[in-house]
Amino acid sequence: MKTVIIRDDDVHAFTPLDTLKKIYDPRFFGHGFKVSLSVIPNMDTSVQIKGTNNPFVRRGYIHEPFIPKGKVNTGFHSFGKNVAVAKWLSSARGIETCLHGYSHSLSDFASADKARIRSLLHEGRKTVESAIGKRINTFVPPHERLSKAGWQVVNDNGMQLFRNIIRPLKDIVYTVPVSQYGLRHARKEFFYGYNGLVKYRSAKELGCMEPYLFSPFWDLEESFRYACEKFDKSSLFIMTNHHWEFDINPKMLVWWKRFVRYMSEQESVSMTATDAIKKLRPVNG
Ligand SMILES: [Zn+2]
Repeated sequence: MKTVIIRDDDVHAFTPLDTLKKIYDPRFFGHGFKVSLSVIPNMDTSVQIKGTNNPFVRRGYIHEPFIPKGKVNTGFHSFGKNVAVAKWLSSARGIETCLHGYSHSLSDFASADKARIRSLLHEGRKTVESAIGKRINTFVPPHERLSKAGWQVVNDNGMQLFRNIIRPLKDIVYTVPVSQYGLRHARKEFFYGYNGLVKYRSAKELGCMEPYLFSPFWDLEESFRYACEKFDKSSLFIMTNHHWEFDINPKMLVWWKRFVRYMSEQESVSMTATDAIKKLRPVNG
């Protein structure tokens, strides 16, 4: 039976509930699909994006594209203010809320300063947990930026990780302490990356090799075909959405709904990150 894991990133203080509800509608949940939504606890509205590889930078965006235009450079905003979304997250069936860093700044979890990382993790977790009235188990590092100190603090606090591509060759330098690797990592995935659950000596991580299958700037029909092909081929299908990209190009919603229908035509079991980390067999044995 096919396993389906869907994540969606960057819910924040100003995320409109309507945007989330039209993507993850009663039909989506009615098919038995689940979604892991990652929430930014205290968004820094001054965060800028960089890099010529970033499609938003190439289109002239300077700040994070999900920060509403009128809110850029207005300081930090706590997710606690978004009562409507918090209520939906805690009441809708099939949703897991994950912790998406602290302010979404590049540096929050990328430093070697364990004390600072610990305090950001505690404060962020407390903000989101008290808003939704539920405990959070899964951490999704923003921008995939996580230092070894960050990796350790997240694990020491009993949280599990859901990253995009887990590339051990890079991780061994930047993210995962060397002592976490064992013989079971000596395989071809070590060089090109893991899709699925990866086991270390004292922790587990969920990784997605090819996260974003739909983007407002792509040929959506082509994206749909590619996503269907990928879905057909994989026994473990993992993908990530950015709900805010659906507001940039409303046509995305049409193709997403078509894709949800396509997925629903095959038998599958959908899991949240926590389900998957509990139930899946690690890809490295
Ligand atoms: Zn993010």
